[in-house]
Amino acid sequence: MNPNQTAEDEQHPSIAAVNRRIQWLSLHLTPLPPLQPSPQLNMLTCAKSANKLEARFANPVGIPMKEHRELCMRQLVALVREAKIKPFRYVVDDPAKYFAITEAVGSIDVSLGIKLGVQFSLWGGSVLNLGTKKHRDKYFDGIDNVDYPGCFAMTELHHGSNVQGLQTTATFDPVTDEFIIDTPNDGAIKWWIGNAAVHGKFASVFAKLILPTHDSKKISDMGVHAFIVPIRDLETHQTLPGIEIQDCGHKIGLNGVDNGALRFRSVRIPRDNLLNRFGDVCRDGKYTSSLPTINKRFAAMLGELVGGRVGLAYSSVGFLKVSVTIAVRYSLLRQQFGPAEQPEVSILDYQSQQHKLMPMLASTYAFHFATEYLVEKYSEMKKMHDEQLVADVHALSAGLKAYVTSYTAKSLCTCREACGGHGYAAVNRIGSLRNDHDIFQTFEGDNTVLLQQVAADLLKQYKDKFQGGTLSVTWNYLRESMNLYLSQPNPIIARWESTDHLRDPKFQLDAFRYRTSKLLQSAAARLRKHSKTLGSFGAWNRCQNHLLTLAESHIESVILARFIEAVKNCPDSSSRAALKLVCDLYALDRIWNDIGTYRNVDYIAPNKAKAIHKLTDYLCYQVRNIAGELVDGFDIPASVTRAPIAMQSEAYSQYTHHVGFQ
Ligand SMILES: Cc1cc2nc3c(=O)[nH]c(=O)nc-3n(C[C@H](O)[C@H](O)[C@H](O)COP(=O)(O)OP(=O)(O)OC[C@H]3O[C@@H](n4cnc5c(N)ncnc54)[C@H](O)[C@@H]3O)c2cc1C
Repeated sequence: MNPNQTAEDEQHPSIAAVNRRIQWLSLHLTPLPPLQPSPQLNMLTCAKSANKLEARFANPVGIPMKEHRELCMRQLVALVREAKIKPFRYVVDDPAKYFAITEAVGSIDVSLGIKLGVQFSLWGGSVLNLGTKKHRDKYFDGIDNVDYPGCFAMTELHHGSNVQGLQTTATFDPVTDEFIIDTPNDGAIKWWIGNAAVHGKFASVFAKLILPTHDSKKISDMGVHAFIVPIRDLETHQTLPGIEIQDCGHKIGLNGVDNGALRFRSVRIPRDNLLNRFGDVCRDGKYTSSLPTINKRFAAMLGELVGGRVGLAYSSVGFLKVSVTIAVRYSLLRQQFGPAEQPEVSILDYQSQQHKLMPMLASTYAFHFATEYLVEKYSEMKKMHDEQLVADVHALSAGLKAYVTSYTAKSLCTCREACGGHGYAAVNRIGSLRNDHDIFQTFEGDNTVLLQQVAADLLKQYKDKFQGGTLSVTWNYLRESMNLYLSQPNPIIARWESTDHLRDPKFQLDAFRYRTSKLLQSAAARLRKHSKTLGSFGAWNRCQNHLLTLAESHIESVILARFIEAVKNCPDSSSRAALKLVCDLYALDRIWNDIGTYRNVDYIAPNKAKAIHKLTDYLCYQVRNIAGELVDGFDIPASVTRAPIAMQSEAYSQYTHHVGFQ
């Protein structure tokens, strides 16, 4: 018997339940109206698709790797051929729909989501985005209906993040009008390639394009390009001559994806197999390109591949929604301890549990709006091909992918802990989500590397500003903010502590932008100073942590700005009130987390810091009171979030049956 349970509770369990309910209701001191469905809260697109797929696809637990890989392949084929859902059609025409399908599929089994991404976004996307009409005509249908399963073979054993360091070569042979693909040493073996170990028939292989010349050097290296290389026979599925394939084996997660290693020994492919959108080779071996330098071509090529990154940021928010839903529902239902002689309380009534989960719930909403914005900008970019928009989406996708996936990875650990022992049962999913999602921090660009790209872009914008250049759309706030924010903080505002002021979006956004502007200005000054003695590479390394903080701070500003906008545009007043509460919690929790920075420069005086702390506490408590409705807003199908079902007394039997009790 539980030490807090009374004899009366034991004799009259229904009275105990009523008492608990009254106690629970009494906690709603200032209840907010329940959330109404509204466009701003419409997170149903993906969940609805998932519901449709639910019956067909189960989330596998404890399945052997070989079976899991086959299951994922069968599911992918069934999705396309039986359910007639054709993700590839949307890769270019309607990216928002494509990402929604990936999220829905991934919420059932992350391996399946990634398998789908490898086929349509990586392999298919490289053909569509780096190739030209002849490639689309030849490969579109085969990729679309999965007759041509393929791989995206960029990473090598020795080079992952540093793509320009790749060593695989594609040498043009003018005699036979072919390219010869070679792996010059073991370090150049393509590694981790999804779909390579078992199912792939083709690979888009990234290699240095080598052309013969008539000068003393004999050859010219034109930089990294992509080539379509058949790796297995279309009929027999036998590995083709000159190609060696090995299995990368068991991984920490994502074991439904068959990652493999590829070595090429003088593999000949037709000249037409060069994906020639940004650079081409004529019959006589002459190179042509509309872009003047290797660096510009390389940037254009990578710019076309940001879709994968956008998809990862978007799906990562999907996994955060799933795990927050599991942890919040569990915490609402689970009861431990309570006041003497009274029923036990829900664990979400503990302040510590609220502080673990409520800021996370707020962040999930914040990331939802930010990644929706990213998808919108990405779709616009795909239609308009505007150079400025391309640069903008590149930096935004790098920043959001890095920030969101790192946050989700940490949150998955917190959610596991928040669900206690039951969070550790594989059937309750948090473990597999945690393991499967972990690599999101590394592939499609390592997060630390991506954040540095954001910092580099900010520094470029900063330099341009002082040279009278234009600023890109997302970074526009720097235009107004620099002068305003870099002057001394206003000592009067620094002391304002009223709730109205602290909940004013202007105060919140100003605080975020002030921090970013300060970090940007000081990073620029430090880099200038250190580059005199250390050179630019050394100076960058000396300031690296500062630059990472700058990038994160900037991304947080972008996220908050999108959230504030979403609250403003929410048409339903009760939903708007709930969202405003959540948005305030997101903003103030972040400010509180970095209060030292604000205090150091007296941007926030001690009395104001204390008021922020108190208000954050209060907001956590208020959000807790509508936490159930807030996670309902994600509309995750019950089969995807089993843990809370297992904790409802009427459904205990499902859980006990699971471990063998009759
Ligand atoms: C499951 C899985 C699936 C994959 N699928 C594919 C695929 O289908 N196709 C494909 O081409 N690749 C694939 N990859 C490879 C993936 O894209 C690379 O692992 C990734 O790009 C990182 O490269 P790396 O592993 O060489 O890490 P490294 O670049 O060696 O990084 C290792 C560490 O060094 C740090 N580091 C590196 N450079 C810097 C720097 N400049 N400053 C500070 N720190 C730095 C990183 O932060 C990281 O912590 C996959 C990988 C995995 C594990």
